[in-house]
Amino acid sequence: MSAAPRHTCVHGILGAVICLCLLPAGLAHAFSTVVIDAGHGGKDPGCHWNGLVEKDLCLDVARRLNSILQGKGVKTVMTRTDDTYVELSDRAGIANRHEDAIFVSIHFNASRDHSVSGFEVHHRSKKGLALAQCIEKCMGEAVKGRKRDGDWQDYKVLRETQATAVLVECGFISHKGEAARCADPDHRQALAQGIANGILAAKSKQ
Ligand SMILES: [Zn+2]
Repeated sequence: MSAAPRHTCVHGILGAVICLCLLPAGLAHAFSTVVIDAGHGGKDPGCHWNGLVEKDLCLDVARRLNSILQGKGVKTVMTRTDDTYVELSDRAGIANRHEDAIFVSIHFNASRDHSVSGFEVHHRSKKGLALAQCIEKCMGEAVKGRKRDGDWQDYKVLRETQATAVLVECGFISHKGEAARCADPDHRQALAQGIANGILAAKSKQ
């Protein structure tokens, strides 16, 4: 499809990799706020495998993403900042209160097939697809591990959010090797950095 983003990558000053996504006209995001949604929380632990609990990992990556984006001068809102349960509709409601926002939900994955691994970004709209592809591309450059192709998903939190919304599955904690990576703070920082790079790469010049 001609609407698919074209990607390129350049090496910036000091050897830092800058991730670029060249989005077609109309698919760049002129957002002012990033709503960061740490999945699950409180009474809802999400999946738990190999000594890891999804809700804790989601909050950790969300906090790291929040710090990176704030450091870049981007306004952020977190749907939860501690181990509390927030209804899915309330999470979407938080996003819907902010004009010019994008919504990024952070999750980890699990499968009965323990050989499945990798990160992926899901979407539910055309603009969501463009943002998801940017984030996947930039995560692929920042993160060790397999990149999977996210797809269209009718998740409630994406359906009820009016803003451009994506859901990042950071990796399968049911996979022993990936769980070991996810237990490492350096890996979680790389996940957050990859997501941040994708968000910033998708941001249009305002
Ligand atoms: Zn989840």
